Amino acid sequence: MDYQRVFAQAIERLHAEGRYRVFIDILRNKGAFPNARCFAGHNGPKPITVWCSNDYLAMGQHPAVVGAMEEALHDVGAGSGGTRNIGGNTHYHVELEAELADLHGKEAALLFTSGYVSNEATLSTIAKILPGCIIFSDELNHASMIAGIRNSGCEKHVFRHNDVAHLEELLAAAPADAPKLIAFESVYSMDGDVAPIAEICDLADRYNALTYLDEVHAVGMYGARGGGISERDDVAHRLTIVEGTLGKAIGVMGGYIAADRNIVDVIRSYAPGFIFTTSLSPVLVAGALASVKHLKASSEERDAQQAAAKKLKGIFAEAGLPTLPSTTHIVPLMVGDPVKAKRISDILLAEYGVYVQPINYPTVPRGTERLRFTPGPAHTEEMMRELANALVEIWDRLEIRLAA
Ligand SMILES: *Cc1c(COP(=O)(O)O)cnc(C)c1O
Repeated sequence: MDYQRVFAQAIERLHAEGRYRVFIDILRNKGAFPNARCFAGHNGPKPITVWCSNDYLAMGQHPAVVGAMEEALHDVGAGSGGTRNIGGNTHYHVELEAELADLHGKEAALLFTSGYVSNEATLSTIAKILPGCIIFSDELNHASMIAGIRNSGCEKHVFRHNDVAHLEELLAAAPADAPKLIAFESVYSMDGDVAPIAEICDLADRYNALTYLDEVHAVGMYGARGGGISERDDVAHRLTIVEGTLGKAIGVMGGYIAADRNIVDVIRSYAPGFIFTTSLSPVLVAGALASVKHLKASSEERDAQQAAAKKLKGIFAEAGLPTLPSTTHIVPLMVGDPVKAKRISDILLAEYGVYVQPINYPTVPRGTERLRFTPGPAHTEEMMRELANALVEIWDRLEIRLAA
């Protein structure tokens, strides 16, 4: 076996399809985000505007968050020094779990090192505990949920995206006495649409199924205290497990679930992805704690983000740019071709100092490649107008080129 050739061919396939991933080398300017520096050129860092950050509310630079992290670093040092079971259960962890349980109106919460790990560890473990469990999964669920479901080894049925009738058909066809779990998201991060949570909970009641909701793209941003779409729609109490991240709107790093005490105890006791890993640094946990507390009390950031999203959608529509009809803060601009999406992104960065990453397969289905904009409280109308003008110019340029 010529190993090197096989590896080289695997990479070559990505190049051929136009979806080889290039990471843009940046540093964000604290206090001035979405302004950042890009290290792609040869003459030192170049100023850019970031349009694709998941630090949706710019909490990563909020003085309360940064201050709490500085204080924790000063008081207790850098790392946790162990797993939760062996020396790594700091008081910050205990406090943040209580704060997150309260945020979602649940008895308990459990921290993980990332949202990915929380989905993988929880879904794979809970379904293993329930003999003969059948999992019903939305077709657009995130890779981390799919990994958890696969690793559970359970029977799985995929329902069409947000299609309650299809979900009911699948539930009705399953044995009435089999344990069932419905796994879905609230805000789908690539299209910006929202799940019919209450209707899915109705089905869960009717068919005696558990529910698992990924609120990663809604936590901090929806609901009066940032509890997500389930708080906004007043359905959090109907969900079995709510999952979230501390890495997006919370602005730091880490993931969690919130549920009743029993379920959290089971995951805490059985999930390898929780047990056999060093717990999050207390510095990160202190920052997340400050962020969650701040966003519980303040709607200023949420309101400003919604206003920015509305404004950008309006400006794009006026300019005739093809956005998806998102009902949330996410603004997807459709390109439908991986090479073109990458090319537009390259021109934006090189000529306009605009950073937006092209989104290609497998993150989105082939043929739906796009640029995904995440306007936030710190994006000004002037930045938006410059962005729209740049896009219109590039659209014209590429279409002329394509037609020729
Ligand atoms: C980003 C994401 C995750 C993973 O969260 P991380 O904290 O980044 O690991 C989980 N689910 C969805 C829907 C996501 O978009």
